[in-house]
Parts: sequence; structure tokens; C-alpha cells
Amino acid sequence: MPKVYNFGAGPAKMPEEVYEIIRNEFTNFEGSGISLLETSHRSSTYLKLNKEVQDVVRRLLNVPQNYKILFLAGGGQGEFAAVPLNLISRTGTADYVVTGAWSAKAAKEAKKYGKVNLVIPPTDRYVDVPDQSKWNLDPNASYVHICTNETIHGIEFDFIPDTKGVPLVADMSSNFMSKNVDVSKFGVIYGGAQKNIGTSGVALVIIREDLLNQALPICPSILDWTINAKNDSILNTPPMFAIYIMGRVLQWIERQGGLDVMADLATKKSSLIYNIIEESNGFYYAPVAKNVRSKMNIPFRIGSTDGNDTLEKEFLKGAEALGLIQLKGHRDVGGIRASTYNAVTLEEVETLANYMKDFYKKHSK
Ligand code: PMP
Repeated sequence: MPKVYNFGAGPAKMPEEVYEIIRNEFTNFEGSGISLLETSHRSSTYLKLNKEVQDVVRRLLNVPQNYKILFLAGGGQGEFAAVPLNLISRTGTADYVVTGAWSAKAAKEAKKYGKVNLVIPPTDRYVDVPDQSKWNLDPNASYVHICTNETIHGIEFDFIPDTKGVPLVADMSSNFMSKNVDVSKFGVIYGGAQKNIGTSGVALVIIREDLLNQALPICPSILDWTINAKNDSILNTPPMFAIYIMGRVLQWIERQGGLDVMADLATKKSSLIYNIIEESNGFYYAPVAKNVRSKMNIPFRIGSTDGNDTLEKEFLKGAEALGLIQLKGHRDVGGIRASTYNAVTLEEVETLANYMKDFYKKHSK
């Protein structure tokens, strides 16, 4: 089969080396004679793995000792509910900075459990992160929620907001482990694993200990961070295989040299594509403000600022013929989206860049 280049937004490309490891460990996990798929979550084998994955998270992100690391079922959206259920009780109100479709979804979910203050004015055209001087933060909020990388709209925070002591909660689903982050600036960091750190079904949650013990009484135990922390993420049968894969992906990141190496690569890869867009005299068009252009998800239009349907279809068809797949933009925004997560190599992005250059030569007037 000819090589396939996967630029999907998630579930996204996994590192090839990790597939080798999974293949080798699949039916005989660490010499136990059985697969992890049929291993008890209370066994010493799994307890060891549970600790090993926590340890690699702590090492990579330099997670301070006063933060718990949890692996929870329900993915990113499970945490959209878990955040208010665990945190909103203090004042009954929370601040949401809505910069795209995912933070909008998170805010909508939170409204079920308390009052939500929208920190920036609502819009249906997400293209930037307004300067913090324009934010309407509520000093009485239980927490401030941001999405550090909007997967659909391609908007990535280039700063950590100053929330004046109110705990900052961040959805990092689509840029987790793509760069170093000062965890101590956050109350909670969470994300689904299926983009940069593994496969779907599990959320990685990092929470400062003083934010535990305040869940609403209606909070289901399975979403309750305090109960899950007490049970070391083994309250029930956890998504063990997804947690295992996350561990193997994180160990791969460590072997590559860690988060600074990932960040460097992300800058190189995304610049390749953004530069072609900038140098195309408007043939390619990226709607997002330059300072917050995502290094993980690059949405763009072809032919005009609203996209030329014929050209965009032609682009996708030509790309598929070369094995460049999953480049179609999200249905909410249309156009093209190239996702350049950790596992997507520089060579793969160069192949896409060359295709973009050829397509430009052929179709620009
Ligand atoms: N947040 C962001 C930024 C996402 O991109 C996604 C999924 N694409 C989610 C949350 C939801 O994650 P899940 O599908 O694991 O619930």
C-alpha cells in the first residue's frame, strides 16, 4: 500500500514506533502471559502501569507535587461536565472565555450547573483571542475556563491569562504535550487523549489539590475528581487500554527529547504551511489572527476568503490521490484543515507543503 499521510484532527496520527511497541506487547503484556485487555484493573500489573503513566506525565510537564494526575473515562466532553460539577459550588458562578466551538460547548454544559459569565462578547466568527484588557472577568467566579487550542477554528492561546487569583481551568485536548506549560499557573488542566497523546475515551486531568473536596452533591462519583483521586483513578474499571496507549505515547515523546523538541517541531511544521498561505497572494487564506494561529490545527480557504467550492473539492481530491488524507475542514467552518500534531513528521508536512505549492502554480491566475 502506498504511504498515507494522515492530517486528521482527531483521532489523529499516532507515532509509528508506538504501534511497534503495542504490537509486541499486545497478547503478552510485560511477560504476564496475557493481554492487558484481559488483565484485572486491581492486579499488580495494572497498578504498576497506572503509576508508570502518572510518572511520565509528571516528568514531561514537570507537574508540581501538590497536583493530582487522574485518568478519567468520558473524554474531553466528560470533563466539560466534570469542571462545573467539581468547582462551581464555591460561588455558583463561573467565567468562560469562548474563543471557538469547543469552549462554547464547555460553557453550554456548565450552564446546567450554575451561572456562566461570558468573559468576551459572543460571536459566530471566531478568529482571535481578544486582548485581556478587554475581558470582563468576574472576581466572584469560582473559576475561569479557557480552551488553549480550538481544534475546529485553529486558535491557540499565546499567553497564560492572569485571572487575579481565580483558579484557571484549561481544556488542552488538542495541544496537550505539544510544548512546555507552567502547570503552577493553572488550577486544572484537562484534555481528551486522541490527538497528541493517544486514543479516545480517556481524559488526562491534572488538578491542584486545594481544589478538591468541593463537588456539588449531585456530582456523579465517576466524574468526581476527589473520589477518583482517593481511588488513584481506579474507582471502577478504567479505560485501561487507552491509558496504556497514552503512557506509551508519552514515553515516546520523552525519548524524542521531551516537550521543547515537540514545540520546536510544531513551530517548524506549522510555519511551513502558514508561510505558503502568506506568500500565495490571497489564493490560500487563513482567517485567524497571526499571533494566535494554532500550531496544531491549520484551517484555511482556497480561492477566496469564503472559499471557492470547486477549487477546494479539487484540492481535496488531488490530495487524496497522493495519500494526503483527512484534510477536509470541519463541517462548521468548511474549507481545509491540516492538523500537524506531534506524531506528524516534518517530512509529511513538507509533502503537503509541496502539494500546496504545486496546486497554487496550477490554479492561481
Ligand atoms: N475539547 C477540544 C478542544 C476538542 O478538540 C475536543 C474533541 N475534538 C473535545 C474537547 C471533546 O473531546 P472528546 O471527543 O474526547 O469528548
